[in-house]
Amino acid sequence: MEMVQQTISERVVEGFGVSPGVSMGVAYVFEAGQMRVPEYRLPNSQIEAEQERLRSAVVRSRRQLARLRHRLEERARALPTGATEDLGYLLEAYLEMLRDSRLVRGAEDRIAKDALNAEAAVHHEIVAICEAFKAMHDPYLAARVEDIRDVGNRLLKQLTKQSSPQLPPMPKGSILIAEELTPADAAQLDPETVAGFAAQSGGPQGHTAIMARALGLPAVLGASGLLDRVKTGDPVMIDGDLGQIIIHPSPNSVLLFQRREAERRREERELSRLKRQPAVTRDGTAINLLANVELPTEMDSVIEVGAAGIGLLRTEFLFLNHVSMPTEEEQYALIRQLIERAGGYPVTVRTLDLGGDKGAVSFVEQFGSSVSSPLGLRGIRLSLARSEILDVQFRAILRAAVHGPVRILLPMVTTLTEVRAARDILARAARRLLRRGEALPSALPPLGVMIETPAAALTADALAQGSDFFAVGSNDLTMYTLAIDRADERVAHLYNTLHPGVLRMIQFSAAAALRARIPLSVCGEIAGDPRYTALLLGLGFRELSMAPPSIPRVKRRILGIDLAKAERRARMIMDETDTMRIQILVDDFNAPEIERDAG
Ligand code: PEP
Ligand code: MG
Repeated sequence: MEMVQQTISERVVEGFGVSPGVSMGVAYVFEAGQMRVPEYRLPNSQIEAEQERLRSAVVRSRRQLARLRHRLEERARALPTGATEDLGYLLEAYLEMLRDSRLVRGAEDRIAKDALNAEAAVHHEIVAICEAFKAMHDPYLAARVEDIRDVGNRLLKQLTKQSSPQLPPMPKGSILIAEELTPADAAQLDPETVAGFAAQSGGPQGHTAIMARALGLPAVLGASGLLDRVKTGDPVMIDGDLGQIIIHPSPNSVLLFQRREAERRREERELSRLKRQPAVTRDGTAINLLANVELPTEMDSVIEVGAAGIGLLRTEFLFLNHVSMPTEEEQYALIRQLIERAGGYPVTVRTLDLGGDKGAVSFVEQFGSSVSSPLGLRGIRLSLARSEILDVQFRAILRAAVHGPVRILLPMVTTLTEVRAARDILARAARRLLRRGEALPSALPPLGVMIETPAAALTADALAQGSDFFAVGSNDLTMYTLAIDRADERVAHLYNTLHPGVLRMIQFSAAAALRARIPLSVCGEIAGDPRYTALLLGLGFRELSMAPPSIPRVKRRILGIDLAKAERRARMIMDETDTMRIQILVDDFNAPEIERDAG
């Protein structure tokens, strides 16, 4: 008999390559709505507290159901029909189930007996009850299975509200595929286990993309139709350079992948030779290259590439999956660790910039939905509205500043009043620490502002009077100037920092800082793209902060720049009003270098 070999043909889904590199692995499809129930063992000392946590979740669920029933009764009075009656009985039954039921008692027992966290205990108990009901082959009980699940899920929701949703454990070598991945989801990925990820939504400038780069994982976002084309277990290749997800890659694609890997390793070896070389233009101007840091694990690569310090520590990333606001001690320990690892180089600590796509679930619950709007209670606004946030963070930073040079950076500033208010809180935090007898640095750290809103850029001259330095956040500055959500894949093609509106904001801010003689840097993604280096230098920037792996490429570009020529080209660009022509002027100036890079 003739053997028929079945080969599954390769499929390619396109999206935005948001984090470079290519990796191969096995798809793990994370279904939307998949209940993510965290499971972990507890030390004996925590068992009672965990049972108490369960009991208070039960109380909250009962209150929620009682409110629902009350609303239903009001509606029933308004509507002279018995339509709501059935629902009323159901809610009553649910309330009963949350009284001293098998579900609650069983979960409590499991916490004690198996030293399980409350979520896992409830989950296992639901499964056990449903199995038992089904086994009895009684139609009435079988119909109750759905009710038990409903009540149990209500309880699980109350419990997981207090903690961030967890991604399920994945086998080593998985490529995570999802409809959407938040920055908080991405922060849970372990690069030792996950080889890359792709999602249907998300744009290249959003924080999930930044997280992928921080983790060094190849990633593709905005890949529409992805979930229809891939299933768990499929062999998959993620191409973070070209923005492709290749499902069932052909032998030819695998060969190409191997070649590109070899090429990448060769280039990295070549770039690593630049490590000890100073970043100096052809005419001898030194440029400060610093690192953006989101996770402590990035410090190895910060040191590896020879960064001259941290130009942006996004502190909110350190706490995205936290249940509650980080304490002074937690923040102090982390910031101090980073300062010590920076080995005497300055560390620029940005205060919490929660909000927009970084509105982690637990924080939205604490501060309301405005936190998740890019125009809402984001960054400094939240920190001032709840000044204890700033107070606690300043105390942690001030204590850590004893261990090395620190600068403090405020996000999302729009007025000088915000800077002054923050400065007052900083002084108050210092006084409080002194009263507590804590060691403090000899002078308060410089307090600077992110220029990332049009308001900040257009009043940069006024802000310079009350700020010790500026850091231009081109990511948000582009988003707010062009009114384009940076995390929305549908408008990602319109997002362009070379729009003259954005460039004028950047130029105006740079000029204001230079006039006021305060330090100036760029820490948005353009700082790490060699395409923009000559333009930024031409506009007067001498300090660029970027993802650590970008430093060698930007340094290579700097070595080829003649500053006088870059300044002339920057003036030409700033005289131009058409984005296309600006792009040509930028790329034409870079051309010889790009050819060399490609060769
Ligand atoms: C920016 O907006 O450019 C910036 C650096 O801050 P983030 O990306 O964290 O919003
Ligand atoms: Mg920003």
